[in-house]
Amino acid sequence: MSEVNAPVDVRDVAETVCCVVGGGPAGVLLSLLLARQGIAVMLLESHKDFDRDFRGDTIHPSTLDVLDQLGLVDRLLAIPHGEMRSLSLTTPEGSVVLADFRRMKLKFPYVAMLSQSIFLDFLVEEAKRYPTFQLVLGANVQRLVEESGQIRGVRYRGADDEWHEVRAALTVAADGRFSKVRSLLGLEPIKTAPPMDVVWFRLPRKPTDPADAGMIAVQGGRFAVMLERVDEWQIGYVILKGSFQKLRASGIEALRTALAEVVPWLADRVELLQDWKQVSVLSVESSILPVWHKPGVLLIGDAAHVMSPVGGVGINYAIQDAVETSNILGESLKRGQVTDAELATVQKRRELPTKVIQAFQRFMQERLAAPALQAGKPFRVPLALRVMRSIPGLRNLPGRMIGYGLRRVRVER
Ligand SMILES: Cc1cc2nc3c(=O)[nH]c(=O)nc-3n(C[C@H](O)[C@H](O)[C@H](O)COP(=O)(O)OP(=O)(O)OC[C@H]3O[C@@H](n4cnc5c(N)ncnc54)[C@H](O)[C@@H]3O)c2cc1C
Repeated sequence: MSEVNAPVDVRDVAETVCCVVGGGPAGVLLSLLLARQGIAVMLLESHKDFDRDFRGDTIHPSTLDVLDQLGLVDRLLAIPHGEMRSLSLTTPEGSVVLADFRRMKLKFPYVAMLSQSIFLDFLVEEAKRYPTFQLVLGANVQRLVEESGQIRGVRYRGADDEWHEVRAALTVAADGRFSKVRSLLGLEPIKTAPPMDVVWFRLPRKPTDPADAGMIAVQGGRFAVMLERVDEWQIGYVILKGSFQKLRASGIEALRTALAEVVPWLADRVELLQDWKQVSVLSVESSILPVWHKPGVLLIGDAAHVMSPVGGVGINYAIQDAVETSNILGESLKRGQVTDAELATVQKRRELPTKVIQAFQRFMQERLAAPALQAGKPFRVPLALRVMRSIPGLRNLPGRMIGYGLRRVRVER
């Protein structure tokens, strides 16, 4: 904790009830939920805007449900978006549906595909309607304020390059997979080792392309995920862990050829991939903190648990963490004080669903992703998935896990 109280020349000190570090889905939604209860909340985001490419543009049925409960969903869905109603796996043997949201009794039987920056801007604009909400962009949190073993707030370097202090009854770290707050607190996540990384890029959609569906294509040791956006495909080319430099050394032409082989109907546009600058590499991780809190501070979203991209559930778990945090802590925050026991309750409520989905992701990584990446070995749809598909009660399980997770989250405040 050497950096925690490291002395800096602070230009000014602000007071709030809840200081939220990080304006991703977890931090922005939590700020909105607290502000609408009249709780003073200050959201600190290190970037100067919410523009963030390839950070997941998937708004799952559970998140749409939360927005519906908040009365926001119609306005959100009025923004042009894609609707992924099913997810199928295509192999040289044929195609199987892995998840079909239409078969489930859902009010929103699809994953809405909408740029995360638009989604975050939308939530922030909503939060700005409440006078207790304060947003500071360009605020890079680098220190914690600790007194008598209790975190009392943070210090950040602002867009003006000066140090500023925020004092708060509660600090919530929603600062993502590389959480600075987590490392300042000396908290170490328990990691698993996913077998893959993902190279993200996009190509245009054509009217003749498949519609309203997500696709996983596997062929000859190659593996690509296709997510439909309004006028383009977001494509994840899955590679063996740590092998990006090898892919890069073989030239962008090799990526074009591989993609055209695994998804033949993209062959007419792979030429548009001209430069490695067009791709973004995701080093896939999966981890969870054993303890999500210390006196005066709580970690949620990726800061508490980095999610593998399997099922694209990172955003909805971050959103669900925010809802439960607001449900459990709202009343106490109104009184300006939260106890350790209440912070532990947040972890308790969210830990099991997180562990269950991470186990599901591990299963998919080991049984589907790892074999799919083995060149020279014919790929077969994993037996467990085939069995599941043949049992009516289990057929919808993958869709249910991806779309909703373990249980529905209700906005109670
Ligand atoms: C390449 C890529 C693709 C992905 N694809 C998907 C997908 O398709 N679907 C899906 O659901 N999930 C996807 N994810 C995961 C998803 O982005 C995360 O799970 C989700 O965004 C977690 O939300 P969060 O609010 O916890 O953290 P983040 O979204 O990571 O937000 C953290 C925020 O904190 C800010 N921050 C960090 N440090 C500081 C600091 N010191 N001071 C102030 N602010 C700070 C960051 O700028 C950021 O805005 C993807 C992730 C990546 C990296």
